Amino acid sequence: MAADNDSASAPSLEEFTRTAREWLEANAEYRSGGSDDKELVWGDGEFSVSVFHSLTFEEEKALLERGKAWIQKKAEHGYHAITAPVKYGGLGYPRSHGRAFSKLESQFVTPTGHETLSVTVGLIAPTIDLFGTPEQKEQFVGRFMATKDLCCQLFSEPGAGSDLASLGCRAERDGDEWVLNGQKVWSSGAQFSEWGELIARSNADVVKHKGMTAFIIPMDLPGIEIRPIKQMSGGSSFNEVFFNDVRIPDTMRLGPEGEGWKVALTTLGFERDHSGDGGGGGSRVGGSWRQVLATARAMGVTADPVLRQELAKAYTHFRVEGFVNRRAADMRRAGSPPGPEGSLGKLIWTEGMTRVSDLISRILGASLVADAGEWGTYAWGEHVLGAPGYRIAGGSDETQRNIIGERVLGLPGEPRVDKDLAWKDTRR
Ligand SMILES: Cc1cc2nc3c(=O)[nH]c(=O)nc-3n(C[C@H](O)[C@H](O)[C@H](O)COP(=O)(O)OP(=O)(O)OC[C@H]3O[C@@H](n4cnc5c(N)ncnc54)[C@H](O)[C@@H]3O)c2cc1C
Repeated sequence: MAADNDSASAPSLEEFTRTAREWLEANAEYRSGGSDDKELVWGDGEFSVSVFHSLTFEEEKALLERGKAWIQKKAEHGYHAITAPVKYGGLGYPRSHGRAFSKLESQFVTPTGHETLSVTVGLIAPTIDLFGTPEQKEQFVGRFMATKDLCCQLFSEPGAGSDLASLGCRAERDGDEWVLNGQKVWSSGAQFSEWGELIARSNADVVKHKGMTAFIIPMDLPGIEIRPIKQMSGGSSFNEVFFNDVRIPDTMRLGPEGEGWKVALTTLGFERDHSGDGGGGGSRVGGSWRQVLATARAMGVTADPVLRQELAKAYTHFRVEGFVNRRAADMRRAGSPPGPEGSLGKLIWTEGMTRVSDLISRILGASLVADAGEWGTYAWGEHVLGAPGYRIAGGSDETQRNIIGERVLGLPGEPRVDKDLAWKDTRR
């Protein structure tokens, strides 16, 4: 989200860093293991490499509340949205200030992140900024950025995942209202969210990409039922969501009628865009380079001729990932919205996670699956079981490769038999 005020009014980087450090020192404790840049001290503090949380509903809710409280505390000073416009509660400062704050913050103990916080702040707030009416922007953007309310993505359906445009959850117009009927699935954080960004079929008589409309809806409306799904990594972070004659006013429509595909692609563009992970190294979820290296050192395998090669490959991958993300960040700063090249960042990120899972499995051997009580070993199981999820979420690896092939490289498109058919006549 580009700042609309003059960043020349920002304090110098030194001045900003000094006041931000004072604020952090007054509101949080220094981390004993040091920042993400420093080498990890083996055996010291908490060791988390999980990709998804393995928690009960109450535990996950409490974790979210701690995350929200920290973001809201930062929001009192605009530290939650340093580069965002002042009208949304941000500071409108340059990205250098944002990066400096993130680096500083990584030296302090702060609450664990959660996907629903990132979705609300990083995906849905900027989508509303682009497509919302002035009233919707005023109601939601600042509120979502400060996580005063949370919002989930209601896109996928049992018959529409990679081929999202074939979705069939119906939105039928009835005067000034819409009536919703159908089902969504894999809706992460729906059970914790006050709002949902919904993409629904509003016209069955036109080709599938044309007949969709987006909405921003309250999740507690009569007729909405949310059922959590148990995951192999332990928790239940995503859900099935059912709509039975749910009535919403037309003021909840996000963007023009029939333009839901554009809205969905914009949100997915933000989801695939990893330009915020400027340093690389998969810092958004567990399994960073410093954790990999510390584990290899602790297991005494750094002299192994084969594992040394694999460690060097993993490090190279993390560095390349960092450069790709920085390039994307520069493009964002220059004002270009997330485009198909975001697929490159997402693919590199998930390939990095897979590489880490494979390498760690070789380093740890049986300690990965048998809990011997040794610090920093068995915990990696949560990474290995969770990493495949992100190869699917936000569009699978194969979908990203299709996008890169067609929209970046200009290769011939996939055969599309339903290209000219009305949605109601397509095979589903
Ligand atoms: C952790 C996680 C969180 C998620 N959170 C949300 C959420 O909050 N909201 C939401 O709406 N959805 C969410 N999803 C759903 C996600 O968007 C879908 O799972 C994803 O788009 C894939 O769809 P599918 O599961 O129906 O698989 P399918 O589309 O049925 O794909 C099955 C397999 O076929 C491959 N495939 C399909 N089409 C092609 C093709 N054309 N070329 C090559 N290979 C192909 C796929 O890559 C995959 O390997 C989440 C998923 C995960 C794993």
